[in-house]
Amino acid sequence: MRGLMKTARGFGNLELLELDDPIPKRDEVLIEVAAAGLCGTDIHIKHDQAFYTPPVVLGHEYSGTVVEVGSDVTSAQAGDSVVSPATAYCGKCHQCKTGHMNRCTAEDKRILGTSRANGAFARYLVVPDYIVHQVPKGVTMEEAALAEPMACVVHSVIDKTPICPGDVVVVQGPGTMGLMATQVAKAMGAGKVIVTGVTSDEWRFDIARRIGADLTIDVQGQESPIDIIKAETDGRGADAVIEASGACVACTQAFEFVKVAGHVTLLGVRGRPADIDLDPIVVKELTMSGTWGTLPSSWVTTLRLMSTHKVDVSPLITHRISLSEWEKGFELMESQKAIKVLFISFE
Ligand SMILES: [Zn+2]
Ligand SMILES: [Zn+2]
Repeated sequence: MRGLMKTARGFGNLELLELDDPIPKRDEVLIEVAAAGLCGTDIHIKHDQAFYTPPVVLGHEYSGTVVEVGSDVTSAQAGDSVVSPATAYCGKCHQCKTGHMNRCTAEDKRILGTSRANGAFARYLVVPDYIVHQVPKGVTMEEAALAEPMACVVHSVIDKTPICPGDVVVVQGPGTMGLMATQVAKAMGAGKVIVTGVTSDEWRFDIARRIGADLTIDVQGQESPIDIIKAETDGRGADAVIEASGACVACTQAFEFVKVAGHVTLLGVRGRPADIDLDPIVVKELTMSGTWGTLPSSWVTTLRLMSTHKVDVSPLITHRISLSEWEKGFELMESQKAIKVLFISFE
């Protein structure tokens, strides 16, 4: 099979290489990849701006069909449609034992497409059976390939953001995560979801409105975004703000958009220190959450939301290409012309 491998540290060093087909160990399943999504993390690895241990086949957002299972595997069988998180947690460290498997501290941890485990940008991959989830009926394999980012959003929005029915929620950044957060906030009963972005996001705003956003705001537009949000909330501000743009300035805006005693959730890292006035947290008595990755329960919830059509990720799939066109996929992401690029052929 051919796999897109990060061969060494440094910028680039990506090669589509001929590799041996993987063989499942006793507790592993061999999966034929149906669809695999390009993620910002893959771009960061290309640019040498993320944690990874080369050589490794990239790709951690995928769906696939089980083709073979190891002798100890009882939870999956050949023919099953499956997805899995990227990280194989140990179940033994303090974080795992206290329910924070997303922050497992085991040093030999396997992370698909990043460290010690070849990922899904290849025809086959192997994963330990205990992290596999079955794809429910009614969810297509292309949709299931977006379960990984959706599970991250489910953890951020459902587990970590107190949203009550009727609430006004502001989502900053109409990228993959922000658009998914919009859908999840709606599924939780938010009365109004307002998506903010910049002028160049106009085409993303169209998608945001199509998938349920009640209002979109260009923060670089003529009218002050704070005034618009105040007008939408009887002068009070949003009940919750979900920061999904990664921009440092958006944190400052989040403190302005949110109401007194409201909540701000940071979805994703900034990657650099920010010079931010923290006094609004004190003066407005705000609460805040940071969130990282997924818990096993995030996957159960995600797949239920997908199968009951409480969320619809299909409008977020803007490009479908073959793995042989990987350079085009990276270019689409780097030039911000895509929401989600899927590899759907691995010849
Ligand atoms: Zn990802
Ligand atoms: Zn652990």
